[in-house]
This record gives sequence, C-alpha cells and structure tokens, in this order.
Amino acid sequence: MQSKVLELKENGDSIYLVSSDLHTHTPLCHHAKGTPAQYIAAAKAAGLQIYGISDHAPHLPEPFDDWRMSMSDLPAYYEWIAEAREHAGGQLTIQAGLECDWLTGCESHIEHLRRAHPWDYLIGSVHYLPSRNNRRWDFDNPAHLSQWKNLNANELIELWKLYWQTYTEMVQADLFEIHGHPDLIKKFSFIPSGDLRRYYEPVITALSHTGKAFEINTAGWHKPCAEQYPTRQFLELAAEAKIPVYINSDAHSPQEVARDFPKAHQLVKEVGLNLVTP
Ligand SMILES: [Zn+2]
Ligand SMILES: [Zn+2]
Repeated sequence: MQSKVLELKENGDSIYLVSSDLHTHTPLCHHAKGTPAQYIAAAKAAGLQIYGISDHAPHLPEPFDDWRMSMSDLPAYYEWIAEAREHAGGQLTIQAGLECDWLTGCESHIEHLRRAHPWDYLIGSVHYLPSRNNRRWDFDNPAHLSQWKNLNANELIELWKLYWQTYTEMVQADLFEIHGHPDLIKKFSFIPSGDLRRYYEPVITALSHTGKAFEINTAGWHKPCAEQYPTRQFLELAAEAKIPVYINSDAHSPQEVARDFPKAHQLVKEVGLNLVTP
C-alpha cells in the first residue's frame, strides 16, 4: 500500500504534506526495476504533485562501475523521462535530474553533465571513499560487508572522519541543488561511540554558507541501520541552522515511490525543519 502524502483538513480540503519525490531511479542503472508507467502510477497514487527522476549519473573514466548509466545511455534516459511525462499528463509535473557521485576532483565532469541537458536539479551523493591501497571504495555496497566487519574501533573512527570530510568538501564545492542521503556511512550500523555531532557540524556549516538543501532519505528505514538518513541529531542541528530540506524516497522500484513520507514528515515537524515545496 502506497503512503498517502495528502492530509484531509476538517473543512474537507486536502493539503499536501509532501508534494514531491525528487530522488528516484530507473532500470538504466542496472539495479532498479519498473516501467515509466508503473512509476508514474505510483506517484499519482501517493498524491504527489512533482515526480523527479534522478538516476545514477555516468562517471568517468568508463567503465566506472556496474551500478550506473554510461554516457552512451543518456539518450535512452531522456527517452525514459519523456515517456514518464506522457504518462503523467497534466496531473503530475515531471522533473529531470541526476544523482551524481562526488569524488574528489570530479568538478569538471559534473560541470560537463550539467551542460548536457536542461536539468531541473542535480543531486550530489557520496558513495565512494578513497581506500588504503589508493583505490576507490563504494562503502555502501553490501558486497563489502566483510571489510566493515574487520574494522577496529580506530579504523572505524578514521573512516567516519573521511566520509564526513568528503561530504563537507562536496557541499563546499557548491555544484548541487540537493545533497543526497547524508549519513549513508551508518548503513550497516557500524557507528563510532560517543557524541557524533563533531562529524555533522562541518556539513551543517557548509550548507548554511551555500544556502543549499539536503534530503531526508526514507530508504534508510529499510537498510540494516533501520533509520532514515540522516539521523535525528543531524536534523536537529540543521533545523537550528535553518537549512532547507527535501523528503525523498530513493525509489529503485515503483513500490518504493514516496515510501514512509508521512513518517518523515512527522520527523520534520518534530525537529522544526523547513521543508522545501518545489
Ligand atoms: Zn541506486
Ligand atoms: Zn545514493
């Protein structure tokens, strides 16, 4: 059953709790399923006004990995978006975006992607960290769970430092409208002990300098961490600093569109965050 994002008021009017879902995927990334018609039907059933498509962007040099589009997939991606628009009709606005990977030094590639199409927005995400042998490591890939299990307490702290530094660097680069799933590093529930605010604060400061938004990503509730990204303490700091926020599902199948949006909306209200209504 789809989460309804509409709330009925006493006078019979309905108001939108959350009007958009801007982080969603397509099968072009090789790990999502569903047709444009299925995703759009789900978005309509959830009562959304805006459905944003933001599949995993190509990254260079190719082949980069096996979970994203390649540069040569972009025309098929534009087709997919056009097909979604046809199914949406006048009821639902479709926006076109990409979820881009932030890796240190990728600025010119992101600028190249930016110019490739009249995007409505780009999401920036950190899925990769440099690893000890100087290769990149997609730390949230379940294939690497054994590496996580082998970390000692100090290595875990170092890894968290590296993640949050990389994330801060991405925000400071000021290349993205939306900053995707901050706190993804906790996905498998390997979390250092003690007060974690020291990791979050530099990101909040950087967001407040650029004026850009981040997302509450509801997919976290369905991962081993069993919690939205980012954690409540991050949200409280963001509310204090008046950072704008989106609620996004990161849907990789039609059933996941607008998933848990009422629960996320409740959280936004509780901590006093400013939800963007695009
Ligand atoms: Zn994905
Ligand atoms: Zn992501």
